[in-house]
Amino acid sequence: MTAPVLLYDTTLRDGTQREGLVLSLADKLKIARRLDEAGFPYVEGGWPGSNPKDEEFFAAARSMTFRTARLAAFGSTRHRSHSVETDPNLRALVEAETPVTTIFGKSWLLHVTEVLGATPEENLAMVAESVAYLRSAGREVVYDAEHFFDGYKTDRAYALATLRAALAAGASTVVLCDTNGGCMTDEVSAITRDVGSELGPEIPIGIHVHDDAGLAVANSLAAVAAGATHVQGTINGYGERCGNANLVTIWANLRLKVGRATVPAGDDLTRLPELSRFVAEVANIAPDAHAPYVGTSAFAHKGGVHGAATIRVEQAYQHVEPSIVGGQSRLVVSELGGKANAGWRVRQLGELVGDGLDPAELSRLVKQLESEGASFEGADASFELLVRRRRADYRPPFRIVDFTVIVEPRDGSHAGAEASVKVEVDGEVLHTAADGNGPVHALDRALRKALGAFYPTLDEVHLVDYKVRIIDGDAATGARTRVIIETGHESGSWLTAGADTNIIAASLAALHDSFEYAVWKLDAQPARRDERSSAHAVSARHGAAPRPSLEGEPA
Ligand SMILES: [Zn+2]
Repeated sequence: MTAPVLLYDTTLRDGTQREGLVLSLADKLKIARRLDEAGFPYVEGGWPGSNPKDEEFFAAARSMTFRTARLAAFGSTRHRSHSVETDPNLRALVEAETPVTTIFGKSWLLHVTEVLGATPEENLAMVAESVAYLRSAGREVVYDAEHFFDGYKTDRAYALATLRAALAAGASTVVLCDTNGGCMTDEVSAITRDVGSELGPEIPIGIHVHDDAGLAVANSLAAVAAGATHVQGTINGYGERCGNANLVTIWANLRLKVGRATVPAGDDLTRLPELSRFVAEVANIAPDAHAPYVGTSAFAHKGGVHGAATIRVEQAYQHVEPSIVGGQSRLVVSELGGKANAGWRVRQLGELVGDGLDPAELSRLVKQLESEGASFEGADASFELLVRRRRADYRPPFRIVDFTVIVEPRDGSHAGAEASVKVEVDGEVLHTAADGNGPVHALDRALRKALGAFYPTLDEVHLVDYKVRIIDGDAATGARTRVIIETGHESGSWLTAGADTNIIAASLAALHDSFEYAVWKLDAQPARRDERSSAHAVSARHGAAPRPSLEGEPA
C-alpha cells in the first residue's frame, strides 16, 4: 500500500521570509491554531535561535493543546567552532520544547568549503552530531538537506553521504531541498528517484522547493511521484523571493489529480478557499484572485465563447467540478461576454428574474455602461444591484442625499481629511461626520456611522481591499478612475465598483454599492429609532440637521 503524503507546513517560518509579510506573535498563534484545525501533521513555528519573537512563540505554544499538529522548531546544525553542548543555536532548539526539531545542513561542497569554511569531513560530523544530540534530547529530527539538488549535481557521492550521516544519527526523514528554486522538473524527478533507490524504500524522503523557476508545485509533485512522502511548503506559496511551494495547490492536486492519500486527509476540500483566505487575511496580503482552485477567479469565465460553451456543458472549460473545492463557476459580466454571460448571471441570480428582465437587453446595457467606464467585471455585487434596481418594485434601502469632503494639512504637514454625509432612510435624514487619514477613509467612516445607526448589522462588515485604476491614462490627471472595493463579512466577501473622473465620487459609488449589497445580503432591518445610538451622530428630519461637530471623535 502506498504511504500517505505528509504535508509539512512552514508558513510561520519560511513563509514569513516573503518581502512585506510580517506576522505578530498573536498572528502566528492564530495561524498555528488554524493549521491544526485543518489537520496538518507538522507545523513549523519558527527559528528560535534567530529572533526573540519565535522564542516567544514556542513559549506561548507550550500552553496550547494541538489536535493533530506536531510543532517543529527550525535551526541549523552546530557551528563549526562549537560542540553540540556549547552551540547556542542547538540550545535554543532544545529549549523550544517542541516534539519535532528540523535542522538544515549543507549538502553542497561549495557551501561547505566557501560558506562554512569547513572540510567535507567536518561538515559530516556537524550533521551527525547535531542530529544525535537532538535525538538524545528526545526529539523527532527532520533533516533538511539544504541545496541538495545543486550539491548532488556537483558531487553525488558527497550529497548522499550527508543524508546517510543524518539517518545514521537518527533523523526520521531526510528532506531534499531546492533552496535556490532553479531545478527543472525532470532533474528533481531523476535525483529523488536515485536517492530513494540508494537509501532503500523504508527511508522517508521529503521535498522542499522554492518557486524561482515557477516550478515549485510541479517539482513537489514530481518528487512525490518519484517516492517522496513528505512535502514541505506554505499556505498560498508565501516565501522568500518568488515563494515556496504552495501547499494549497499541492494538496488539491494530490487528492484530485494524483489520487494519493494525504495527511491532512482532504476527503472534504470545500474549506480549502477558507484556509487560504484566512492565512491571507492574517498576513494582511490581498488574496490572489487567480490562485488555482481557491481564487475567486478560479472558475470565472469571461470570453463570450467560453461562456456560451460553459452554459451548455459546465465542464467544457473547467478542469474539476468547482464545488469539490468550495468554488462555484461563474460567468464574468463584461463587454467581452455576449448575452449568454449576462443571461446566465441573471438566471444565477434566480429570484431576481421574473418581471421581464431580458438577457439581451441586459447585455446591451452592460456594454453601454462599460463603454462609459463602469465595470462589472470583478464586481459581481454591483452587477447584482444593477439587476435588482431594474425591478419595478425595487426600493433602495437608503439614499445618499449629499456629501462633503475636506482635505487639509494637519499638524503642520500631514494632510488629514474630514467627511460629512447626509443619508436618508424612510424619509428620515441623518447627518454624520468623521475624519480619516485620507478622503476615502473619512468618507467610509462617515457613511458607516450614518448607515450603522439605521442598520446596526452593518457593523459586522469591514473593508478588505480598495483598488484604484486609471481607465483612460491619456487624459492624465483628468482621467476616469475605476475603484473596486472588496467588503468582508464572516459569511463571505463581495466586490463592488464605481467609476468617475472624480476619484472621490468613484469611491463613494463603490462604497454605496457595497453597503447597499450588505443590507440585502445580511437581510439587515432598520433599527427602531430608540435603539439607535445618538452619541456619535446628529439626527434631524429632512436635512434640517445642525452642523455636526467633529470634536471628541476618535481618530
Ligand atoms: Zn526554504
